[in-house]
Amino acid sequence: MKSQEIRSRFLSFFEEKAHDIVPSSPMVLKNDPTLMFTNSGMAPFKEFFLGNAVPKNNRISDSQKCLRVSGKHNDLEEVGYDTYHHTMFEMLGNWSFGDYFKKEAIAWAWELLTEVFNIDKSSLYVTVFEGSSDQDNLPMDQEAYDFWKQIIPEDRILMGNKKDNFWEMGEQGPCGPCSEIHVDIRSEEERAKVDGKSLVNMDHPQVVEIWNLVFMQYNRRANGTLEDLPAKHIDTGMGFERLCMVLQGVQSNYDTDVFTPIIREIETITSNHYGKDEKKDIAIRVIADHVRAVAFSIADGQLPSNNGAGYVIRRILRRAIRYGFTFLNKKEPFIYRLVDVLTKKMGKAFPELKAQKQLIENVIREEEHSFLNTLEQGLVLLNRIVETNSSDTISGEKAFELYDTYGFPIDLTALILGEKGLSLDEKGFQTELEKQKARSRAASESSTDDWTILADDTEEEFVGYDLLETNVKITRYRKVSSKKDGNMYQLVFNITPFYPEGGGQVGDKGYIEAQNGDVLYVLDTKKENNVIIHFTKNLPKHLEQTFKAVVDEKQRTRTAANHTATHLLHQALREVLGTHVEQKGSAVHSKHLRFDFSHFSKLTVEELRDVESFVNARIDGKLPLVEKRNIPINEAIAEGAMSLFGEKYGDTVRSIRFGQSIELCGGTHAENTGDLWHFKIVSEGAVAAGIRRIEAITLDAVKDFYFENNRSFFEMKDLLNNAQEPVKALQQLQDENTSLRKQVEQLLKQKAQNLSGELKNQLQEVNGVQFLATKIDLDQNGIKNIAFALGKEFDNLFLFFATSVKKDKAMLTCYISPALADARGYDAGKVVRELGKLIHGGGGGQNFFATAGGKNPGGIPKVLERVKEYIV
Ligand code: ATP
Ligand code: MG
Repeated sequence: MKSQEIRSRFLSFFEEKAHDIVPSSPMVLKNDPTLMFTNSGMAPFKEFFLGNAVPKNNRISDSQKCLRVSGKHNDLEEVGYDTYHHTMFEMLGNWSFGDYFKKEAIAWAWELLTEVFNIDKSSLYVTVFEGSSDQDNLPMDQEAYDFWKQIIPEDRILMGNKKDNFWEMGEQGPCGPCSEIHVDIRSEEERAKVDGKSLVNMDHPQVVEIWNLVFMQYNRRANGTLEDLPAKHIDTGMGFERLCMVLQGVQSNYDTDVFTPIIREIETITSNHYGKDEKKDIAIRVIADHVRAVAFSIADGQLPSNNGAGYVIRRILRRAIRYGFTFLNKKEPFIYRLVDVLTKKMGKAFPELKAQKQLIENVIREEEHSFLNTLEQGLVLLNRIVETNSSDTISGEKAFELYDTYGFPIDLTALILGEKGLSLDEKGFQTELEKQKARSRAASESSTDDWTILADDTEEEFVGYDLLETNVKITRYRKVSSKKDGNMYQLVFNITPFYPEGGGQVGDKGYIEAQNGDVLYVLDTKKENNVIIHFTKNLPKHLEQTFKAVVDEKQRTRTAANHTATHLLHQALREVLGTHVEQKGSAVHSKHLRFDFSHFSKLTVEELRDVESFVNARIDGKLPLVEKRNIPINEAIAEGAMSLFGEKYGDTVRSIRFGQSIELCGGTHAENTGDLWHFKIVSEGAVAAGIRRIEAITLDAVKDFYFENNRSFFEMKDLLNNAQEPVKALQQLQDENTSLRKQVEQLLKQKAQNLSGELKNQLQEVNGVQFLATKIDLDQNGIKNIAFALGKEFDNLFLFFATSVKKDKAMLTCYISPALADARGYDAGKVVRELGKLIHGGGGGQNFFATAGGKNPGGIPKVLERVKEYIV
């Protein structure tokens, strides 16, 4: 069965059981400080489990893109070495939010595997949580055991410990006991020899877990304790690639049709064969896997970068490049060329890949290019270290410098040293690494207390679209301490006018005022999942009272104007440059806005002017804001809103319209485009391969901009003696300057010619050589020209010039006709190196031309005396 069909059969099975089928949520997360990437199918539904939000249908099924490369679930180092762990994989899942529980989840999983997919029952094993006697003190999952007993012989039900059978998403959040289903795909004979049961959960590549049924019933709090969730839920996750392996009768995920097209392409490009040499096979698997992770991340809007999620992506890609470089001998970019097959294979199920193919290719190619450069430079540096090292062990410190400063991977260092018969002080390296980690930990250390709940707060209402001021009550708060910011408090209100940072727009600032007039500043507002958090330096007294919450209106008005401007700018760019332009990021502040978009060349002056005019025409047109809140996504798209990838299921959206510009947006906006006053682009440039950035301003900032320009204009006019027509005056100055420069050049040429004639007259015949050593008053370039010009006239020339342009600076130049240098073994480099010591300096060059610089012009007479010694 082809993988496409396997995916759709899974989904239709649950559709028949009254589940809503929803598209995958983005793999890269935005509003969740506890998680960087979706690492399991349940992550996008966390809020439903916690009771912070209510789903439309309490049964859902999907295939979710997952990435396990950081935090609690990190499989990165396994990938390539085994046949069934990936960085990015699809997790097929079915969910019940407070609806069905263990009985149905177990029965349906069994039905699907054995009756729809016809997996041999005698190859299946299941596990049940045995309970724990640690601080959580959890009971055995008798209930699950009893349901399994009804459908599978009891000797196939195994007890599992907390590590395998109690599922937790991260250090905090929803969790619960689980039942896993394992499949034994070994041959009949092997099965007869070793009982499959003994291989379950033993990391055997052919006895693998394919499906995990999690019975969500607890929430792990920040202080480590468990609390009951408001309701009980089902969360199941089946590895799609592993299921394909089982159903396609192969022994490795990489032999399924999910991977074979990519592997064939790697074989073609690198002229290697998969399945011949284990080292190369590992490299091929690493690359086939990693290109998927990286391509999907870029499609989700996460470009490789130097920090956070972007850095994780960069590291994955670099791991692939490194394996290609080391084991497949690929020294030029090639991974980007795999994006084409990947898109052909998966673009249908994941249209975001198709839509952004070109960008993905460009970004990967650029990254490959620059990292390959790093590798090459690193090799040179490493060779230098090896050459100058006196023992046959390279110190940890040196290896660490190579790793830390130049980004050269440590395993490559070890490998290369091994090949040269040298060793690396790995312990020393680890010590350095630990030291650095401790330094950065100390710098970023922070701790977050548990929430103190003051009032029931399941729904915190945001009223900031309509109000900038309202009465609020604090429903919960907590303290956060960090080295960087010291102690801060995070407050949550029952209702809030403060806009939380999101959609590129900064969070509101302002204050809350107590009844006695005390004021506490709100320094920032952010969103964590669905909760809006207000940052303050202190806690107010009498927390239970009603406060007046007031948003800083000036900042908000300016920010709103800039947000509206980004929409108009987006529209303008698509109009002027074409519809390939897609938003790739934005930052909307009160003072300026920044807009990143896909486009492949620098904008011309005309294009920039057209974009500005387009936006300003809409500002002049005084277009009113037409806002629709809480409409279903489909309705907004039908209206013409630009569809964005990355909306989560269950989201209703808000559409923002100004004339023909319609976008899905949660930000705050001007009431009318006329409120923007004027739009001005202040810069345009590249941020990454295929991505450009425009920075622009509106409102008061434009006034300041023109004011500033005007001021420098008058300053310039002043410098031009208050010329009536400054442009003309400037032009005249420039013309004059050009003509003077020409005259000077002419004079210098003349001088050099004269000098050259004089020098020729001073040549002496010594030992069959035309010799001259003299002090000369000319710049370095002039000296070089003269030397080479004379060199053309004689083929037995030995010239030596000394100059001193400044009191403490001397230069020596030696020119020897190349034929002479070769015939007699003269070396200009040696001459200047040795004589350079007399002027307290050094230098070098080739055997026919070399220069040296030093600090002691006083040594020049001695130098000139000694030059002759070199003609022997
Ligand atoms: P394993 O022990 O094999 O690493 P797990 O216990 O980490 O699996 P779960 O967190 O329960 O797995 O995830 C549910 C399912 O997702 C697994 O049963 C498996 O089929 C699949 N899965 C988990 N991790 C990976 C991965 N790195 N690559 C591919 N599939 C995976
Ligand atoms: Mg795992």
